[in-house]
Amino acid sequence: MIVDVHSHLSTRQQWGRFFVEMFDKGASGHGSVDLEVTPERHWQAMEPAAHAIVFGINSHALAMRTPDECIAEYAAAHPGKIIGFMSVDPNNPDALRQMQRGVDLGLRGIKMSPVYQHYDPNGELAQRVHGAAQEMRLPILTHAAFHCIANTPMEWANPLHYDRVARDFPNLKIILAHVGLPWFTDAMVVIRKHPNVFADISGGIALRPWWGYQALACCYENSVCHKLLFGSDFPICTIEQTAAALRSVNRFAAGTGIPTIPSEVIEGIIHRDSLALLGLA
Ligand SMILES: [Zn+2]
Repeated sequence: MIVDVHSHLSTRQQWGRFFVEMFDKGASGHGSVDLEVTPERHWQAMEPAAHAIVFGINSHALAMRTPDECIAEYAAAHPGKIIGFMSVDPNNPDALRQMQRGVDLGLRGIKMSPVYQHYDPNGELAQRVHGAAQEMRLPILTHAAFHCIANTPMEWANPLHYDRVARDFPNLKIILAHVGLPWFTDAMVVIRKHPNVFADISGGIALRPWWGYQALACCYENSVCHKLLFGSDFPICTIEQTAAALRSVNRFAAGTGIPTIPSEVIEGIIHRDSLALLGLA
């Protein structure tokens, strides 16, 4: 059974001009990606998965806007398989009311990003949202990784910020997206330390195989691969690409003495029952 914990549902217009321009110029380094994701296209892409978490991104700073209603409507059309997350911008003065509305719409977690939304993950605005999320039992998936849009604040991107978030809110379920790309050692430290912090392997593993090998080898050596969740970051990558990248990760070790990651560990990531770990089963 595959659970994809990280997938996007937004049209090009909803991604906003900064994000679209970056991809259109190829500056993301992801090659050409079709950012126009309709419900039909998303549904088709999630065919190999038993369950998929889906969200849009709302950011005042980057003019990104996918109404929670769009996500909720799509999830409601596919109950049992599609799990919708809301996207809350902590800079929105109405953030807490938006969270309650999201729950009323049937959304079950929150997509957040200090990088896209320009906030300090340990600042007051974020604490307010993290505290309410803990109380409402809403897991958060956060982009704690780099980005190449010029005005995104990298000082708030590092996954190590979530050590303090997890100490302040120990019952909040947190997913650090992309194993903290490129700060996988910092992401490893945080997921190793805190029982309710996980990392998803989406995006980076398939697109940057050498980085992906190092991230997995680091997590394996530190016995935290059971905290790694499968995700595609669709439309950036597909489920098939991501599974194939995981299964071929040991090719760098061929003919060398560097460590390999056992195939049962790789299959464990691909078939992780993430919904149970996140309290969403
Ligand atoms: Zn993503």
